[in-house]
Parts: sequence; C-alpha cells; structure tokens
Amino acid sequence: MSCVGICGSDVHYLVNGKIGDFVVREPMIMGHESSGVVAKLGKDVKNFKVGDRVAIEPGVPCRTCRFCKEGRYNLCEDIVFCATPPVHGSLRRFYKHAADFCFKLPDHVTLEEGAMLEPLSVGVHACKRANIGIGMKVLILGAGPIGLVSLLVAKAMGASKIVITDLVQHRLDIAKKLGADETLLIRREGTEAETVKKIHELVGEEPDRTIDASGAQSSIRLAILATKSGGVAVLVGMGAPEVQIPLINALIREVDIRGVFRYANDYADALDLVATGKVDVKPLITHNYKLEDTLAAFETSKSGQGNVIKGKTTLGQERA
Ligand code: NAD
Ligand code: ZN
Repeated sequence: MSCVGICGSDVHYLVNGKIGDFVVREPMIMGHESSGVVAKLGKDVKNFKVGDRVAIEPGVPCRTCRFCKEGRYNLCEDIVFCATPPVHGSLRRFYKHAADFCFKLPDHVTLEEGAMLEPLSVGVHACKRANIGIGMKVLILGAGPIGLVSLLVAKAMGASKIVITDLVQHRLDIAKKLGADETLLIRREGTEAETVKKIHELVGEEPDRTIDASGAQSSIRLAILATKSGGVAVLVGMGAPEVQIPLINALIREVDIRGVFRYANDYADALDLVATGKVDVKPLITHNYKLEDTLAAFETSKSGQGNVIKGKTTLGQERA
C-alpha cells in the first residue's frame, strides 16, 4: 500500500464505533481511500504486472445480483466494502483486493492522486446523478471534501456558474481557490426565505441543479427550496436518519430529489478527469503522515485543527 486518505467515516467509526446499522464489534483496520503498488498477482490476473501503480476502488460487489447486472452495483446488498464493519480496511502495508476493482495509474498520475480518486468518484457520481451539463447553474451546499470534489467535477462537466455554501469561511476560501464563482457563508440567524433569496442573487437566477454535501436538515431544505422548478436536488450528505423537508414544494414544482450512495462505474471517469488535467485534486490534500503516525493523523482529522481538508497516511512506497 502507498497512500490512504482519511475519510469522515473513518473518524466517525473511531469516535462513535458505528454509523447507522454498521457497528464496530471487533478491532477493525481503517482506510478505504487508497492506492498501492502491485506486489503479487493472483494466478488468473492478466491485466496487471508486479510494480504497477494502482488506485483501489474499495467496494467489491457480488457481480451476480440484479443491481450488479444493471450496473448499479453500489446498491448490491452483498458488497464487501473496505473499513465498513466487519470488513477490514486498507490502511496497512499489504492488502489484497480484486483485480477488477483496481485501476492502473498512468505514469504522470501520482499515488496521492490515486488515493483521492475515492472521494472524487463520489463527486463524479453525484454530478452524473444530477445530470449536470453545459451552461448549468449549480448550487453546492457544504464545502467539505465531498462538496469540493463535487465542485471540481461540476465545473469539468460544463457548469457555467457554481455557488457553494458553508458555515466555515476557511472552507469557502478554498472553494473559491478551486473555482467556485460565488460563496455564501451561512449564518444561523438568517431566515430560510432570506437565504434562498441570497442564493438566487448570487446564482443570478434559480440554480438548475443543487447538490447537498452537508447532510444538515437546513441545507437539505434549501436544496429543495432554492432549486428551480423542474430542476434536480441531489442529496449526498448523510446527517440525521430522518429530516423534515418541504416535500409538497418539491412536488408542485417538480423538483426531482435524488439520493447518492458512493459510486458505481465512476472510478475510471474520475481517473480520466485527473489524468487529462481537467480536475486537480492536489489542493485538497493538506496533511501528510507516515504509517507510524496514523494516530496523530486521526487526531488531527478529528479535531479539524490546522484546517484539515484531507489527511493522508503515506505507507513508505510512494513514488510521486
Ligand atoms: P465534512 O463534514 O468534512 O463536510 C461537511 C461540510 O458541510 C463542512 O464543511 C460543514 O461546515 C458544512 N456544513 C454543515 N452544516 C452546514 C449547513 N447548514 N450549511 C452549509 N454547510 C454546512 O464531510 P465530507 O467528507 O465533505 O462529507 C460530506 C457529507 O457527505 C457527510 O455527511 C458524509 O457523511 C456524506 N458522504 C456521503 C456519501 C454518500 O455516498 N452518500 C459519501 C461520502 C460522504
Ligand atoms: Zn450484487
């Protein structure tokens, strides 16, 4: 293994011991945003050779159920996903993975970028679910790693104006550097109607597409209320299991609400975006640690100190 990013879910498992129905009952190796160098091959593997640098798509589905056959393998009930209990993750020196879920990195793509294909694939999937196209106005709610990768992908897919929100100015500053046209610092004292109005002013009209990457109820409500009639609101953020939303408003204005769960058939596209230079994920990597300092890496991610966007553990094999 070469590089493993730390995801909010890794930190959540460490701190809370569970996410929804997934409960950590025994010690579990973390990590699912990863890349490595092929050390050994299964006897039937033809598409790789020892020494190949690969990005690892962390979920391996059953390949035979109807979801898998339809290509929506992220919905497979038997998917084996790194660091989702009881399955161990990839934050270790050696790790075995199905070859058809490994992606060979071209020479000019670094192993760090390879690890970043995981969150980037979430952004690719979200933007595909949103059907983002040329000239569209896009609203993104939340400027954490997922909001930021969605921003990068939406731009690459032709969005002409992107407005992004957050509660934290520093994250908005990064979004601006990454190409957001306008940013909006959400203040808790403002009313919902005022916020919708402000968003429409910043977008210049009502956004065609909205992606919620915060999971906050207030944001999910905005995703519906701010999106133009006939538009699409995509929900990526996972907060409370139940939220109160203005569903009738969505109904009468035909705003489609679409969920996003990880990704399916998006890794190759994520790699293509990076390899062709259409998307630069490097500015999202703000912290680097050695494997031996993994605990410190988690501590930093947990506390958010030093304005972490993405912490990453390097496992000694990195060849940039
Ligand atoms: P993060 O916590 O780093 O980012 C969330 C951002 O939203 C933060 O910057 C926070 O300040 C901001 N925020 C919170 N409340 C807000 C509000 N009311 N308005 C605007 N911004 C607000 O997390 P992340 O890693 O970027 O992930 C984002 C969300 O996506 C999380 O809920 C995560 O669980 C979820 N997620 C979902 C999938 C999926 O497959 N659906 C995959 C990965 C992550
Ligand atoms: Zn399946």
